[in-house]
Amino acid sequence: MTNPSSPKTLRVLLPVPLAEAYDYLPSEKEMPQKGAFVEVPFGGRKMIGVVWGEGAGDVPDAKLKAIIRALDLPLTPKVSRDFVDWVAAYTLTPAGAALKMMFGSVKNLEAKKNDVFDCPVFDPDFFQPVLSEDQEKAAGGLREKVVGRATPPPLEGGGRGWEGEINTESGIIGSTVHGRSPPPPTPSLKGRGSVNGYSATLLDGVTGSGKTEVFCEAIAECLRQGKQALVMLPEIAMTAALIDRFAARFGARPVEWHSGLSDKQRRLHWQAIAKGEAKFILGARSALFLPYPALGLIVVDEEHEAAYKQEEGVIYHGRDMAVARAHLGGIPVILSSATPSLETLFNVQQGKYCHVVLRTRFGEAQMPHIELVDLRKYKLPSQEFISPPLFKGLQETIASGQQAMLFLNRRGYAPLTLCRGCGHRLQCPHCAAWLTEHKKSGRLHCHHCDYTMRLPDKCPSCQVEGRFAACGPGVERIAEEIKKRLPQARFAVMASDTLDNPQAAQALVDQMERRELDLLIGTQIMAKGYHFPRLTLVGVVDGDLGLAGGDPRACERTFQLLQQMAGRSGRAADAGRVLVQTTAPEHPVMKAIIKGDRDAFMQAELEERQAYRLPPYWRLASLTVSGADVHQVIAAARHLAATAPQDENLRILGPAPAPFAFLRGKHRHRLMIQAPRNVNLSSVLRRWLANVKLPRNLRLLIDVDPYSFL
Ligand code: ADP
Ligand code: ZN
Repeated sequence: MTNPSSPKTLRVLLPVPLAEAYDYLPSEKEMPQKGAFVEVPFGGRKMIGVVWGEGAGDVPDAKLKAIIRALDLPLTPKVSRDFVDWVAAYTLTPAGAALKMMFGSVKNLEAKKNDVFDCPVFDPDFFQPVLSEDQEKAAGGLREKVVGRATPPPLEGGGRGWEGEINTESGIIGSTVHGRSPPPPTPSLKGRGSVNGYSATLLDGVTGSGKTEVFCEAIAECLRQGKQALVMLPEIAMTAALIDRFAARFGARPVEWHSGLSDKQRRLHWQAIAKGEAKFILGARSALFLPYPALGLIVVDEEHEAAYKQEEGVIYHGRDMAVARAHLGGIPVILSSATPSLETLFNVQQGKYCHVVLRTRFGEAQMPHIELVDLRKYKLPSQEFISPPLFKGLQETIASGQQAMLFLNRRGYAPLTLCRGCGHRLQCPHCAAWLTEHKKSGRLHCHHCDYTMRLPDKCPSCQVEGRFAACGPGVERIAEEIKKRLPQARFAVMASDTLDNPQAAQALVDQMERRELDLLIGTQIMAKGYHFPRLTLVGVVDGDLGLAGGDPRACERTFQLLQQMAGRSGRAADAGRVLVQTTAPEHPVMKAIIKGDRDAFMQAELEERQAYRLPPYWRLASLTVSGADVHQVIAAARHLAATAPQDENLRILGPAPAPFAFLRGKHRHRLMIQAPRNVNLSSVLRRWLANVKLPRNLRLLIDVDPYSFL
């Protein structure tokens, strides 16, 4: 029987998108503790949830059902539960949806009879690299953070440390990225005393400077302390290459967590992580939500990557959430990048993040020489996209036994197919997007939904036969040009749709390393941290892509991408060269790239952001209404705008068509909300939207800190 002093009922949170937890009676046998995984009856089914606290007591006991049983698992740590609540409040999603991310899948929670997982054992000193002086200094700084000897940034005053914008009703802490003068910390955070080990550090070094080597020193220190270390990557295509490096450093392969795992692997890994047996985890952003009993360090590799932003379900930025998780857990977080995001550099400027810099490339490697090729000077034949200087560069590089890369951030063969008779453009029937021709499938594909079609015989508009023309290049078309003009070159195409799994990416990397390839042609997926010693030429086919359209984020992105691509070249003793084809050599992004002047570029961008009231100076949220009927969508978006709180601090922009105004058969209109940084935008939105009722057939998408500013 239950102890009379313990609560009579318990609140259980279920991994479903419902706002609240539900009350249950304890099971006959036991009183599960807070954090216990329990099975409960729910709507005629059984479901697994987590005990979140004492019952709210607003339902008479007679109407309550009893918990069926508790699972044989460690309790979810308090910090993991706090994190679920925090993410839910920040992103305005039901806590159950965030809990679902902690489970991964409910199938992970129960081990099967024959499950055996040979959990890797990591030796922090398995292989100790000899660090350069610069690297050793950086590593020392990071190790100190892990040990906790470093003085934690003060929480109060002075614009340093975590700025918690506290919503006193719910105890929500605001984002790390925003906020002017930090108000006093929450009582709950103060009381917990766990914040002491928190620090956020930008590990900032040019590609090839040894950032990976250096943050491995922090991981080693974390492992020495017996704690768990998590390295986050933006895309799973990158895992394979890094796993081998980590294995060489620590004597075992890290435990992976991403969508590429089999059900069984996922279950085994989840169990090993939740039980604290897995000490070193390499994962995608979803790994952040796992119930680590002893997380001691988070590394966010390539922190600038847009792929950290999750745009569906719970909409969140993996990097920002990593900082929040580190803060809640009182542990260090390291953000690593050769091209840090503007937000992160701003936080460094503000003194909120520490800054560890690696100034030079490791060993003999030099930064490559970057040149612009002014495409306006050359009249290229209509089927060709490689200018004479770039072509000559390729010829020479390959002839001398070196390797090259051609970068074009566009999958498929041609991004547009039009009828030469009437000018009709083949469009996706479900999206406001042109169809991209893909030679691999022999079909036209929409890159925004699953739609594909065969190239029609006749133009759907003018009914004339066989007059379609492919316009513009995708990577497949560049490959075709290479085949024709450099028939002796051994090349491969690397794009997300040509790689079916991380192993496929690794196979190409291996081929490059064994020098079985002369040339890789690919999308941004190639811009990642690969290291090819014989690679000495990078050609950027379309440097202008991404500069058009006026999105300030696009310029930042282009700058980062071109810098990353440049970073692929000349990583060993052989000098590297980068040729960027452009029709706008006078554009500030292009000028900054050839000068390699990141600071000047970032400063100019920051000034622009400030002038336009954009992050990181201002806070931003977007509300997107979507539905099948465009008139209804517009009316609802206008209604939403009309109900906005009358607050002189808030600025409502729009409604206007969203960046993809028609997507997967739904029309989308959106509002942007700008607020000064000291406003808790999440709670403003919550109060506002609590009183708004939209028709049931419309959807409202809330994005706090949207990635796109348009
Ligand atoms: P980054 O992550 O900054 O791009 P990496 O950590 O990948 O740089 O290092 C670039 C290359 O230099 C890698 O091949 C790495 O093994 C090598 N390297 C860096 N530091 C050292 C070191 N101290 N000893 C040996 N090799 C190193
Ligand atoms: Zn489509």
